Amino acid sequence: FLTGKTAVVTGSTSGIGLGIARAMAQAGADVVLNSFTDNEEDHLLAADLGREFGVAARYIRADMSKPAEARALIEEAGACDILVNNAGIQHVAPIEEFPPEKWDAIIAINLTSAFHTTAVALPMMRRAGWGRVINIASAHGLTASPYKSAYIAAKHGLVGLTKTIALETAEEDITANAICPGYVLTPLVEAQIPDQMKTHGMDRETVVREVMLARQPSRKFATPEQIGGTAVFLCSAAAEQITGTTISVDGGWTAL
Ligand code: NAD
Repeated sequence: FLTGKTAVVTGSTSGIGLGIARAMAQAGADVVLNSFTDNEEDHLLAADLGREFGVAARYIRADMSKPAEARALIEEAGACDILVNNAGIQHVAPIEEFPPEKWDAIIAINLTSAFHTTAVALPMMRRAGWGRVINIASAHGLTASPYKSAYIAAKHGLVGLTKTIALETAEEDITANAICPGYVLTPLVEAQIPDQMKTHGMDRETVVREVMLARQPSRKFATPEQIGGTAVFLCSAAAEQITGTTISVDGGWTAL
C-alpha cells in the first residue's frame, strides 16, 4: 500500500533502521538508506533490498552529526513522503565524567538531525499532500536510567519535537509520532552479550534474562522486524488520526 511513496530512513545500514527500511520496501515504498560510511557494501545493501522487494532503493551518505549533511540528505533524496529519523548513538558515563564532546555528538545525531531533516522534508510532504514523520525515540524518551544523561535528554527532546511537528501539521494529511523501543536485538546489542556473560559469569540465557532484560518485564528482546512493522502501521489508513504521540514497543518497560 506504499507503492509510489519514498521512505528516507536515517542510519539504516544496520539494526532497527535496516529493519524499518526492509518493512517499508516490503509494503511497496521506494527507500533511501543512509549512514556516514559510503562503503561498497552500503550500495550493495540498497541494491539487494531493491531487488528483493521490487522497489527503487538507493544509498545516500550523510553524517547526521552535521546539520548541512542532514539537510542535504533529504534534498538529494528528491522526495520524502515518509521520514524516519532513526540514526542514534549512545555513551554511558556519570555526568561529572561525561565527555562534553560525547554530549554534543549525541545531541547532534539523536536530536538535532531530526530537526534539520524535518525542516527540509515538510515542504515536500505538503507539496505531495501526504506525509509521515516517524522518530525512533526509546523507552529512554519516557523514563530515565543513570549514566545515560545525553541519550535520555536527546530522546526526551525527540519526543517533544515529535509533538511540535504534529501540532504544526495537524490540519494536513501529515502525522508525526515517536516509536519508543525497549531493548531491541540488533547486531550492536548482540555484540554486548559475550562481554556481559564474562563480566557476570553467566550463560547466555541467564545474562540476557537477569541482566540485559532486567527492566523489560516480557524478558524478551523486541526485534527490528517488529519496529519496522510498527513504522509501517503508522503509515496505514488506520493510523491517520494517530499524531503527536508515542508508541512503546518495550515488553512492558514503561508500565513498571
Ligand atoms: P545500530 O548501531 O545498529 O544502528 C545505528 C545506525 O545509525 C547505523 O546504521 C549507523 O551507521 C547509523 N549512524 C550512527 N551515527 C551516524 C551518523 N553520524 N550519521 C548517520 N548515520 C549514523 O543501532 P540500533 O540499535 O539499530 O539503533 C537505531 C536507533 O534506535 C537509535 O536511535 C537508537 O537510539 C534507537 N534505539 C535502539 C534500541 C536498542 O535496544 N537497540 C532501543 C531503543 C532505541
